[in-house]
Amino acid sequence: MGGPLEPPAPPTVLVIASGNAGKVREFAHLLTGLPLQVRAQPEGLEVEETGTSFAANARLKAEAVARATGHWALADDSGLAVEALGGAPGVHSARYADSDTSRIARLLRELGAADQRRQEQGLPSDRRAAFVAALAVADPSGATRLEVEGRCEGVILESPRGSGGFGYDPVFFVPSAGLSYAEMDKGLKGRLGHRGQAFAKLEAELQDLLSRPAY
Ligand code: IMP
Repeated sequence: MGGPLEPPAPPTVLVIASGNAGKVREFAHLLTGLPLQVRAQPEGLEVEETGTSFAANARLKAEAVARATGHWALADDSGLAVEALGGAPGVHSARYADSDTSRIARLLRELGAADQRRQEQGLPSDRRAAFVAALAVADPSGATRLEVEGRCEGVILESPRGSGGFGYDPVFFVPSAGLSYAEMDKGLKGRLGHRGQAFAKLEAELQDLLSRPAY
């Protein structure tokens, strides 16, 4: 079994690189169709998100947790990128302010100021934004083997709409659905949303990886 020159064995145990129990449950649920034993990462393992992109942060977390546990690891990083704010809050989405309400308030304030500047320059308002989710899977040696990204294009509303979801959901409006994330039921957000899109891609690639006898 597994000499130094042989490729790593396929992922039978998959550690979810997150300290968030909700996220681990969500991934475990999404992965039920695959022959994987899903585990939470060991307690006390903190990985600093120092990357400048969602993909870099997902890789960083997956690789650190794979190295620390000796198992395959899956990590995600996600957030909101607003066009007129140069991609902010981006990788700082969670740290933009200290509560959902104040994160939304800061976003609306900064986008309002950017809109005002555009108006002064004779430019039309630009409230385009995208939610992005990057997923990375690293093998037990700590090397990233799979990377996917899901996106959902939308616009930032002037004021919150809907009561579902979390985070920036009430101000993120998806024109193709005619609804904000917070007005969608779980199923619709799961299909149209950035995480669902990323996961659909990952699932297909993981299936493929698992079905290979050796690689
Ligand atoms: P992460 O857990 O490091 O990926 O942080 C992502 C941050 O982006 C969250 O704390 C939220 O502020 C925001 N975010 C990510 N996905 C969503 C979503 O589906 N709805 C609303 N906010 C989200």
